[in-house]
Amino acid sequence: MTTYINHFIGGSAAEGDSSRTAPVFNPATGVVEKEVRLGSVADVDSAVQAAAAAFPAWSDASLSKRQAVLFNFRELLNSRKGELAEILTSEHGKVLSDAGGEIARGLEVVDFATGIPHLLKGEYSENVSTGVDVYTLKQALGVVGIISPFNFPAMVPLWFFPIAIAAGNTVVLKPSEKDPSAAIWMAELLTEAGLPDGVFNVVHGDKEAVDALLEHPVVQSISFVGSTPIARYIYETAAHHGKRVQALGGAKNHMLVLPDADLDLAADAAVNAGFGSAGERCMAISVLLAVDTIADDLVARITERMSSLKTGDGRRGCDMGPLITEVHRDKVASYVDVATADGATVVVDGRNPEVDGDEGGFWFGPTLIDNVPTSSTVYSDEIFGPILSVVRVSSYAEGLGIINDSQYGNGTAIFTNDGGAARRFQREVTVGMVGINVPIPVPVAYHSFGGWKNSMFGDAKAYGPHGVEFFTREKAVTSRWLDPSHGGINLGFPEHD
Ligand code: NAD
Repeated sequence: MTTYINHFIGGSAAEGDSSRTAPVFNPATGVVEKEVRLGSVADVDSAVQAAAAAFPAWSDASLSKRQAVLFNFRELLNSRKGELAEILTSEHGKVLSDAGGEIARGLEVVDFATGIPHLLKGEYSENVSTGVDVYTLKQALGVVGIISPFNFPAMVPLWFFPIAIAAGNTVVLKPSEKDPSAAIWMAELLTEAGLPDGVFNVVHGDKEAVDALLEHPVVQSISFVGSTPIARYIYETAAHHGKRVQALGGAKNHMLVLPDADLDLAADAAVNAGFGSAGERCMAISVLLAVDTIADDLVARITERMSSLKTGDGRRGCDMGPLITEVHRDKVASYVDVATADGATVVVDGRNPEVDGDEGGFWFGPTLIDNVPTSSTVYSDEIFGPILSVVRVSSYAEGLGIINDSQYGNGTAIFTNDGGAARRFQREVTVGMVGINVPIPVPVAYHSFGGWKNSMFGDAKAYGPHGVEFFTREKAVTSRWLDPSHGGINLGFPEHD
């Protein structure tokens, strides 16, 4: 019997009116375990109407009431995170420990959002004119839309909805159709935490549902995370329909290793950040820029570490799981031939890996390619798999130039023991998130996350102070309370006295 994954609208499961579905695989076995319903325009409209109906009461709920729901959600999520990790591993394929890490980073944003009474405090200027005060209010937008990618089915929605809800908005989430169950699990948990029906809704689907959300006149904002071409499309389309948009796109993250770096630290970092989650992270390191004098040594240390990596089923204590789909695995694998044709050196070939798992899984092992020319698509494409490219450079300046020439600017890292070089790098590099001896510099929840260039479209980054700004609109109030002196008639533009 087929198991269907339903939408979640107005506080309960909904089949919707579309008969279209998509398969949901377990990537570690290659078996279709469920079918997800693909929402229609009408399904999106039902979810938006449910969210709109819930908005007046929710935005009017006291700060302490909203905060209490978030605290409940935090406690429930923390105590039951093992269940969510199992779901992530079964649909995404990432190993259980990594799924736990994803949830932990998402929980940080819930922690941050529990501080909403403090975060929504406005500004106040007393006596701007005699007897007149000016102050600002941060108010909810209304119904907000979130569209998320496959690679972090829990964390990316958690970047947005805790702050959106805490600020008094109501939400329609369109998760990735490749691993949709985490969103439903979180929706049910929010209900258990006391969130009123309709405040958080989930509609599954593909382009049809996305477009319906982008065009819906009631939806006030769109928060998107995914690949660059779609992020650009979302930004342009949602803005065209008058919405506030933050659209985070793809990446190609470089790690520059200078000759004075601790090479063991750099090798560990390159392996962890290159192959963690099978390279399917927007902050994965996919290009290692090694200065010539230490490049052979660094490649040798990385190669040695790679020999101990275990690829296999995420439930079996392996280091790295499968890729998300067979099509994606085949595309990633095709870059090995491209590398050879482009004159690069394949040091470790991940095709036909030894695997602790079912032979039907979408396997591709950790791959190291040296001497990659920057003219090769192995260098320039976002491969989104466990392929680490080494580009050799003669100097800091050459490495910096390559990073700054990239169309992407999500994350980057420098490994060095020279504080002056590190400081120059943080000033000169045109990338939104920078690590100094830290390979995956994902900011903590009370800062904000977002790249530059084609890695992000829009002004507001995800979560942190930018998240609060994005999910509220500011109102400036100028007030004068009864004063015995009345100014009388004056048609001139008001001046202060
Ligand atoms: P994707 O762009 O294919 O899909 C993202 C979302 O857009 C999904 O919900 C999908 O259903 C929807 N979508 C796909 N095609 C669409 C279309 N033609 N029209 C409208 N909607 C469409 O991305 P993905 O493969 O799910 O995720 C991987 C990508 O996400 C990578 O490029 C990765 O770098 C990026 N990513 C970026 C960040 C970041 O913070 N910058 C974080 C995570 C992932």
